[in-house]
Amino acid sequence: MPLRFDNQVAVITGAGGGLGRAYALLFASRGAKVVVNDLGVTTHGEAGGKGGVRAADKVVAEIRRAGGEAVANYDSVEFGEKIIQTAIDAYGRVDILVNNAGILRDVSFAKMTAKDWDLIMLVHLKGAYSCTKAAWPYMQKQKYGRIVNAASGAGLYGNFGQANYSAAKLGLVGFSKTLAREGERRNINANAIAPLAGTRMTETVMPQEVVDALKPEYVAPLVAYLCHESCRESGEVFEVGAGWISKLRWQRTQGHMFSSPTFTADDVAANWAKITDFTGATYPTSLQESMELVMRRLEEFKTSG
Ligand code: NAD
Repeated sequence: MPLRFDNQVAVITGAGGGLGRAYALLFASRGAKVVVNDLGVTTHGEAGGKGGVRAADKVVAEIRRAGGEAVANYDSVEFGEKIIQTAIDAYGRVDILVNNAGILRDVSFAKMTAKDWDLIMLVHLKGAYSCTKAAWPYMQKQKYGRIVNAASGAGLYGNFGQANYSAAKLGLVGFSKTLAREGERRNINANAIAPLAGTRMTETVMPQEVVDALKPEYVAPLVAYLCHESCRESGEVFEVGAGWISKLRWQRTQGHMFSSPTFTADDVAANWAKITDFTGATYPTSLQESMELVMRRLEEFKTSG
């Protein structure tokens, strides 16, 4: 049976083009009613983006032409309550939220201005916060929700000229992980993806043939799967692009336990090889699990005086 989203409502931010458009078309083709949000800005977040606010209308028209259901919303993701209200007014519920809208203000850190920093935080982090905050009570009440946040390889690995963007994007990973914990009991899942796709965001940094080959349509099936009711993944991070999907996790060295809490910087230096040796690495999956060893050690220090 194909995965379907009948009777479900999906809100996709920044869906007037690029990846968001591909998500919107896919959800609609599989039965979801879609809110196509887009402010219609340039990649730098300025007015006058390709198609402007009409970008959202065009995607809505595409969906309707194909027999699907969709409405447009033109608010900035900073005002998430207005976007979610569009879903409630049009369809009475919200089941799926893809926090996808995004801009770039790439510049080396030395030249980065407070405006470059603030705008990126506003759209990516505050935007995801604001939309999720507005959708959350509905999801809690109906005991069902699926959220996907658009992170980035730049956040996972760092990238020259993207200190602002990478900070925001890794922030969305932490955001997803905590939402997953808080949503668990009400069947609300939240995951993050680091996509790679040829869009206007990447067309200036990649050769045209690569841009053409990295179709947004190769990312959309993962987003659809993560938002399906049968999907049990939550609090996880996936890299996706060009027909490849993989899951990431934290890896931790066994580390070195010092024999006394009064160890010095010289002791750290002397044991550096062991501290950083990934032989026999572990993969903690929760804060509790990550702290277990340290808590046990504290007890030992206490009892040994
Ligand atoms: P895109 O520029 O084609 O699409 C982003 C859309 O977001 C645009 O249509 C834009 O108008 C809209 N938008 C911007 N600010 C908005 C706001 N305040 N409110 C509402 N809409 C707004 O870019 P894309 O490549 O499709 O990127 C989609 C998401 O994926 C972004 O979050 C981006 O950071 C992330 N991402 C993309 C890639 C990639 O390879 N394309 C890689 C990593 C992460």
